Amino acid sequence: MKSWKFRRHVRVSRTGLPAGVELMQNPILNKGTAFTEEERESLGLRGLLPPDVQTMKQQVKRVMENFRRKETDLGKYIHMLSLQDRNETLFYRVLIDHLEEMMPIIYTPTVGKACQLYGHIFRRPRGLFISSKHRGKIAEVMQNWRYVDVRIIVVTDGERILGLGDLGADGMGIPVGKLSLYTACAGIPPEQTLPITLDVGTNNEELLNDPLYIGVKERRLTGKEYDDFFEEFVSAVQEVFPHALIQLEDFGNHNAFRLLRDYRDRICTFDDDIQGTGAVALAGLYSALRITGEKLEDQSVLFLGAGEAGIGIGDLIVAAMVDEGLPEEKAKRRNWFVDSKGLVVKSRTDLAEHKLAYAHDHEPVPDFLSAIEALKPTAIIGVSGQPGTFTQPVVEAMSKLNERPIVFALSNPTSKSECTAEEAYRWSKGRAIFASGSPFDPVTLDGTTFIPGQGNNAYIFPGVGLGVIACEARHVTDEMFFVAAKVLAGMIRKENLAKGSVYPTLTRIREVSAEIATAVAEVAYERDLAGRPRPDDLREHVESLMFVPEYESYI
Ligand code: NAD
Repeated sequence: MKSWKFRRHVRVSRTGLPAGVELMQNPILNKGTAFTEEERESLGLRGLLPPDVQTMKQQVKRVMENFRRKETDLGKYIHMLSLQDRNETLFYRVLIDHLEEMMPIIYTPTVGKACQLYGHIFRRPRGLFISSKHRGKIAEVMQNWRYVDVRIIVVTDGERILGLGDLGADGMGIPVGKLSLYTACAGIPPEQTLPITLDVGTNNEELLNDPLYIGVKERRLTGKEYDDFFEEFVSAVQEVFPHALIQLEDFGNHNAFRLLRDYRDRICTFDDDIQGTGAVALAGLYSALRITGEKLEDQSVLFLGAGEAGIGIGDLIVAAMVDEGLPEEKAKRRNWFVDSKGLVVKSRTDLAEHKLAYAHDHEPVPDFLSAIEALKPTAIIGVSGQPGTFTQPVVEAMSKLNERPIVFALSNPTSKSECTAEEAYRWSKGRAIFASGSPFDPVTLDGTTFIPGQGNNAYIFPGVGLGVIACEARHVTDEMFFVAAKVLAGMIRKENLAKGSVYPTLTRIREVSAEIATAVAEVAYERDLAGRPRPDDLREHVESLMFVPEYESYI
């Protein structure tokens, strides 16, 4: 308290808004050059801004000019993050209006690069860093947050950031990026979002030895210490932000499945890597079935990769099959997994717990191609992170078995995709129904142009979050996710399906999110999971909650 800075007078205007520089430094309230003459006059801004009052359209033009001038994607990322720190309204206007161009910058793949260099490009903190040093006072730490009505928290412990492994506190880029997508894609007001990193240490030697690393330079908490820390975090959220949904993000396999299992029926939570991925892949499958005219319960799916994405997709397909009337055991046997050691079967003794539900009775099969020949699947889904594993013989074998083989190569980024779009179409002679995790350009084969769909989780999680907020759901259920998948698949136009796309274009994302949110809230009302009375017009209520990035008049 000795510094003059702590005693400085914060100017407040007659309207109760902060005034002058304080106003311009608040990213939620700031309008930059768009403050009107009247606002400049009455809010103490005279002389603090260049004279020309500009429109948001002019500001967007300036941002985009500068954005496109940046030579690297990381430069573009930093440019956008700085804008978010200065003027959130303008940031979201730019993001929404240029979503296809911005998505790979704000989120994967560029966000991965940004996390790898987080300590080195660090300028300003965003979100809450809750570290093992805060044990016993996590609720107090949360009370330091600037906003009180938080509705969505995205939390990571940084152990498995995208496909990049343990990045410790540098993983903060992920919750920040995901929450930007919540606001852009589903209109969750930015002040209702809170990115959190649980800094429980890191086992990444490079980070531990990096003088610019921003996290706690200790090895990760494990066992009871970790569990107690997480439990305190959850209790603190319930105390400080009782209406907040907790989205789990990029936890290591050994914690992700366990935390989801232990908390999903206690609090309002879901794991996007498991359940969000499940829904986006299931939506792709539903769309593919719109093309083939077949039923979900008749499908047999073979996965390459049995991690969070694979098991998440499998679990949701099972839930959807059961909903269609198939007994659970039968539904499980429609889903088979190949991991790095071969087909997941009962006789194996090396299986992690999350794979056991899919360890069916079958003789061992050493590789993916032999598994296709043995099991005759209608669909293959690649979630292994291993590029080039959907080989020509694999796609040809699928094409021999099926008139329209379903081939989803979901591993990210593009360089990890199990096969390219061009390979899938060429090797199947244009018959494959293809989707990928990262975007691929259209492919023309013998005069026909195919537009491959990208199974981006951003089609699902923002809408689910908005639905949860709209009805104040107490829990997030699998049913909500497969209903979301159905809604998404139902929204694809016939002309897109005809070109092979199993997802709608990103330009319709806010409409998609509003539809999903309405359906998710509907499930909550039907299952008595809603915390507020049902409005007469649920869809209208959902839309009324959506933040639109426009400047409000302050006088
Ligand atoms: P994970 O680490 O939890 O799982 C990877 C799995 O692949 C493990 O079961 C591992 O045993 C298996 N595997 C490794 N090498 C293999 C090999 N040679 N053959 C067969 N299996 C092998 O990771 P995850 O979260 O499940 O993600 C997997 C991939 O899916 C990543 O590339 C990720 O980017 C992608 N993904 C895509 C989407 C999407 O498209 N929307 C969403 C989530 C994850």
